[in-house]
Amino acid sequence: MSQTDGKILEGGCLCGAIRYRATGQPSDVNYCHCSQCRRHSGAPVAAFATFAAADVTWTRGQPRLFASSDIGRRGFCPDCGTSLTWQGVKTPHEVDLGIGTFDDASSFRPKDHIWTESGIRWFHVADALPRYRRSRKEG
Ligand SMILES: [Zn+2]
Ligand SMILES: [Zn+2]
Repeated sequence: MSQTDGKILEGGCLCGAIRYRATGQPSDVNYCHCSQCRRHSGAPVAAFATFAAADVTWTRGQPRLFASSDIGRRGFCPDCGTSLTWQGVKTPHEVDLGIGTFDDASSFRPKDHIWTESGIRWFHVADALPRYRRSRKEG
């Protein structure tokens, strides 16, 4: 039983030009401390919920995509600049939605921290969640 069972979750960018609806449950929820997430969000750490792309509907507008690396594309609102998504080039069937963009951002609880080796040294989250120096696969 998950915190999001049976819910339809909605969210969008700061100016409202882009809105989305997500159904089902996120397969993953994490904090990402990598330098690209930091720059794209402007925040000390980013947090994402991973959904099946088929479970995410853009109900108003569409994010513009930026190729932030060989492996990923980041979606943002071209009007207000809100960072909305991360999507892996090799995993187009999934989309990561920035937790902060959900109307009810408290719906999710991150399960772990990734890319801690790139994290800001003074920034500490007081939890006991697993921490990975790089990606989950690389440990
Ligand atoms: Zn916007
Ligand atoms: Zn990242």
